[in-house]
Amino acid sequence: MTLFTDFGLAQPILKALTAEGYEKPTPIQAQTIPYAMEGRDVCGIAQTGTGKTAAFALPILHRLSESPKPRRAKSPRVLVLSPTRELASQIADSFKAYGRNLRLSTEVVFGGVTISRQEKALMNGVDVLVATPGRLIDLIDRRALSLREIEILVLDEADQMLDLGFIHALKRIVTLLPNERQSLFFSATMPKTISTLAESFLRNPAHVAVTPVATTAERVEQSVIFVQTGRKQVLLETLLRDPTIDRVLVFTRTKHGADKVVRGLDKAGIAGAAIHGNKSQPQRERALAGFRDGSCRVLVATDIAARGIDVEGVSHVINYDLPNVPESYVHRIGRTARAGATGSAISFCNDEEKAYLKDIEKLTRLKVPVMPLPEGLPAGSAPSESSEPRREQRNGQPQRGRPAPHARGHQGHGQPRSADPNADRGPKRRRGRGGKPAGNGQPQGGQPGGNQQRPAQGQRPAQGQRPAQGQRPAQAKPAAARQDGRRGDGAQVAWLEKSPRRR
Ligand code: AMP
Repeated sequence: MTLFTDFGLAQPILKALTAEGYEKPTPIQAQTIPYAMEGRDVCGIAQTGTGKTAAFALPILHRLSESPKPRRAKSPRVLVLSPTRELASQIADSFKAYGRNLRLSTEVVFGGVTISRQEKALMNGVDVLVATPGRLIDLIDRRALSLREIEILVLDEADQMLDLGFIHALKRIVTLLPNERQSLFFSATMPKTISTLAESFLRNPAHVAVTPVATTAERVEQSVIFVQTGRKQVLLETLLRDPTIDRVLVFTRTKHGADKVVRGLDKAGIAGAAIHGNKSQPQRERALAGFRDGSCRVLVATDIAARGIDVEGVSHVINYDLPNVPESYVHRIGRTARAGATGSAISFCNDEEKAYLKDIEKLTRLKVPVMPLPEGLPAGSAPSESSEPRREQRNGQPQRGRPAPHARGHQGHGQPRSADPNADRGPKRRRGRGGKPAGNGQPQGGQPGGNQQRPAQGQRPAQGQRPAQGQRPAQAKPAAARQDGRRGDGAQVAWLEKSPRRR
């Protein structure tokens, strides 16, 4: 078994890890840290929740502490690129936490807040800069920042970068970096477009990976409740009467929907807050802080806003609306199974969303057990008052795979995407993509010091290599998923009685 002490990390870093309560490295850390300590480039397939931030932050902090240099105005030594501001803030927090016993400074810059404070911070000199690409380019254009002294570059969540339209920003950034540098590249998936991007950043990289998405899905106790749109709010409020659902992340597909759910909760006397692209940075931070300290039990989020949110002890994820991109479902439910913890995910599914449920089950290769509607559930409001305005239908069928216009922030086709991902957008449908997000499971790629094993282009194992259905953890298969969601056997709603296990 690998231990943190095996890596040769500086004592102050090991001390910080003890303070964090980390006992042993996660698989992505065990694979990545030795290569990164050697100064090698690394190409990693891992998603948020696997411990990948420490996988790159620890060796970086070690290398900086071993070669101290006076800080130079506008010229950081390390650049970490992140697709969203929430993730950027969390990465910066991690650097600060792991580097608390070192004399190094970390700064985070992203759009949506005034630039002058960021310019001033850079002027004073920083060692580690964490940035979203749009704001980084703005700062370079304003001559507030130079990338000429960058020794180590991290590109995190590369697939999200491309999804959010950052490709041109990245292509420009790479031309501004010194050729002599170490680069660490991470993505949850590795389709051709991403590996091509990786090639432009990396030199003779070591390849590392952790197991695919299904492991996350398997760790989470899942259920689906078939419910009409107009009864979703009242169902949510009914479920929240269960005190074991003590820290719950509720996902809606739209910003409008998130606000509406919070208003409903407020009327029902349940403390909730919404987090999405229309909220200001202080509003987001307040919502997150309340959720973390327990004063706000329910956080209602859209997919993009929730990306990178890292809150420990989320007992439940509730999909108020099912996502039309199946990978988003796995990202969402992974919020309740951080770093090996288990949790529960409950999905509300109306008639239109049944097609999305099918796609999700196909991706995870798991049947989501159906739970009945709680007995005596009040009627709720008419469907027209639901969180989600009805989508256009063609021939009476929902338009699958196409987010509702409002989910794209009213962006029409052909309209340019803004450089900053602060506005929530409906995620692109990613059909036929070979790669799947990695879970927090067992190592899959090359072992440190051993033979490097390049993971196949698509991270999803070939059909023949996948565990047979029978080898998967037993799933309570719905004998007959009746339209009304009732099992007909008077079974109790099991998850209402179970207290979730915590890390
Ligand atoms: P990340 O994938 O970097 O977002 O990390 C997910 C969560 O795992 C964060 O809350 C980290 O603090 C936590 N974490 C990272 N590494 C370890 C470790 N070795 N042991 C325990 N928790 C960890």
